[in-house]
Amino acid sequence: MHLYQQQTIKIHNSLTGKKEVFVPLNEGHIGMYVCGPTVYSNVHLGNCRTFMSFDMIFRYFKHLGYNVRYVRNITDAGHLVDDAEEGEDKIAKKARLEQLEPMEVVQRYTVDFHNILEKFNFLPPSIEPTATGHIIEQIEIIKEILEKGFAYERNGSVYFDVVKFNESHEYGKLSGRKLEDMIANTRELAAQDDKKSPQDFALWKKAEPQHIMRWPSPWGDGFPGWHLECTAMSTKYLGETFDIHGGGMDLKFPHHECEIAQAEACNGQSPVRYWMHANMLTLNGKKMAKSTGNSILPGEIFSGENNILSKPFSPSMVRFFMMQAHYTSILDISNDALLASEKGFNKLMEAIGSIKSLPEGKATDFNVKEWKQSCYDAMNDDFNTPILIAKLFDAVKHINLIKEGSETITASDKELLIQTMHDFTFDILGLENKQSANVDSEKLSGVVELLIELRKEARENKDFATSDKIRDQLADLGIQLKDGKEGTTYSL
Ligand code: AMP
Ligand code: ZN
Repeated sequence: MHLYQQQTIKIHNSLTGKKEVFVPLNEGHIGMYVCGPTVYSNVHLGNCRTFMSFDMIFRYFKHLGYNVRYVRNITDAGHLVDDAEEGEDKIAKKARLEQLEPMEVVQRYTVDFHNILEKFNFLPPSIEPTATGHIIEQIEIIKEILEKGFAYERNGSVYFDVVKFNESHEYGKLSGRKLEDMIANTRELAAQDDKKSPQDFALWKKAEPQHIMRWPSPWGDGFPGWHLECTAMSTKYLGETFDIHGGGMDLKFPHHECEIAQAEACNGQSPVRYWMHANMLTLNGKKMAKSTGNSILPGEIFSGENNILSKPFSPSMVRFFMMQAHYTSILDISNDALLASEKGFNKLMEAIGSIKSLPEGKATDFNVKEWKQSCYDAMNDDFNTPILIAKLFDAVKHINLIKEGSETITASDKELLIQTMHDFTFDILGLENKQSANVDSEKLSGVVELLIELRKEARENKDFATSDKIRDQLADLGIQLKDGKEGTTYSL
């Protein structure tokens, strides 16, 4: 018997707005598609949060014994700078600015993406397809949509006819919008616009002579619209209907709405059974985004080289911080929140490190089996990791009481406790036991703080020889001190 046969998972389906019992299309198998990064810049921490939520979900399914095909694409063409489908391709623009081949841009940022995800201990997806590797499939879908009468060609570009589609289908059902309202709220089409209606979106765009990313098609040289790649790749690898489609909340409209329209127009059926949307990571209360400059890169957190945090934080600790919030809630990152989270993380790792050496007694003072099921219940309830972490801390409390001699545990319960703590902390939450590294980093942080204090005193006594010596010798060791309004911080 598989574990998944003993657990009932409920998922918040963005399409219905309800928590629904999850029943995969084919028993024991799950097909999951998650929109991947547009590889024109370094992945920021907000992007990582969304991918991490789906990594945790992938890990839980695998833990339960499901055979999961997890497809997470790489957007290496078609994503235009302006969401209104004007302007340059994001990758082509970067290539032009940096005088690189577009594929050099793609390679650079794909490698960065993989490096960062590895640091965060992500599992690789089953398939990681690229948009440029699926141009033929995208052209085939456009032909099909044209044939079914839901698209039209204008001057070498092909557009999806949203008004026509909405006559027989429901455009806007995912994001809860009505086409009439959208039409009422949009500006008139610019005179040079080829679209029949502003809501129409590009399936294929004609490449202007200066556009470097171009492919031949029945409509002339051009490139695919951004929404189309996900329809092409999800259909190819998961079928016309599959179990789960995920992405960040900001992709619901227009990206996912357009994916639904394309797939329904092409295949006549709804492509996805459960739509899942992860919420945003904010910094100073505002959405983290590269384009607004309100962002922090994971590498800047690991090294401490940033103007926001007082010290470096390890990847596993940042992962723990993210897991303390439910994936559908907004999470704000701040120095205080990370510091508080680090205390909890160290406490958890310390307790796990000490379970093996707990004394074994004749009875157990808490019901380990019930506690184990409560961990599953938390995950079954729409992957509620904050509740799961609270359950893990219930166990930490007992571990510490047993250590002190105030409670006891039998040998078999101890085995069960070790296994369950391991499964949920490492396999499912994806944390890593960098306990010794953390303890070291805590010690290092204490020593550096002490030196910062001594340097401050030296400066106050006008003993600049000593204060400079402390700063310079720390710099030689690769520890940079930064003096700011709030005091002195350091980075590695
Ligand atoms: P992009 O590379 O812009 O296509 O984004 C990759 C993924 O990151 C998408 O699923 C976005 O929804 C998600 N994303 C972008 N910004 C944030 C943020 N601040 N917090 C969480 N997820 C985000
Ligand atoms: Zn997508």
